[in-house]
Amino acid sequence: MRKGQQINRRTWLAQVALGSFAVWSEINFGLGRRGWSVAIGGRDLAIGVAHAQNLEPAQALQVNLGFVNASVLIRGKEAAVVDTGTPNNASKIADVIRTAGLGWDAVHHVILTHYHPDHIGSVGEVLAAAAKATAYAGAADIAQIKSPRPIKAVGDNDEVFGLRVIATPGHTPGHICVFDPAGSLLILGDAMNNIGNKLGGPNPQYTADMAQAHQSVKKLAGLTFQRAVFGHGEPIDKGASQAIAKLAGTM
Ligand SMILES: [Zn+2]
Repeated sequence: MRKGQQINRRTWLAQVALGSFAVWSEINFGLGRRGWSVAIGGRDLAIGVAHAQNLEPAQALQVNLGFVNASVLIRGKEAAVVDTGTPNNASKIADVIRTAGLGWDAVHHVILTHYHPDHIGSVGEVLAAAAKATAYAGAADIAQIKSPRPIKAVGDNDEVFGLRVIATPGHTPGHICVFDPAGSLLILGDAMNNIGNKLGGPNPQYTADMAQAHQSVKKLAGLTFQRAVFGHGEPIDKGASQAIAKLAGTM
């Protein structure tokens, strides 16, 4: 990472006293930009602009659970949890929700990027606590997820809580990413990693189909967004889709 970026990170990456999470939504990046675009067949199509204009960016909080991260997204008095980490982590997720002045009753959505145990480990506890929440995952991964209530299947371009589902198969067959166009933020799950600020495709050791995973990275490179957060590794606060596009060009 370039020195300039590191200084920039320091301005917003605030480790809170709990030590369990970082807040990266306090400074707005490029929020004058509304809507998003995706390249289809070589053409740039502007999609979802009308809806995004009505939404504020979600406040995005990262829940650092050791080697894996979960995310909490907040709009107004409502929250979504994306991934749940390893088992026994519901209390750490609750601590982060509380920093926004909310409780489990505000959590209406629990979105799982894929079925791997370090992402769904606490889904039972989270759904028990967030009694009103609907759980979502990619259709092809749902059978692998043990959940106290049914999980709703979501697919490419589905919308949940103003968030856009991006199907990114490869790491697992049903892997999804979660895009907040209003906040210019992409939550990647394990579609990519950024461990030690080294951006890369998914870990081949745990990836079902690397060729398909690389196609999914190329698909993500067609979106435009500033910020990215990963299941494993550090968030990117600016220029994230450009960095992904650069890497995708080498795949
Ligand atoms: Zn995984």
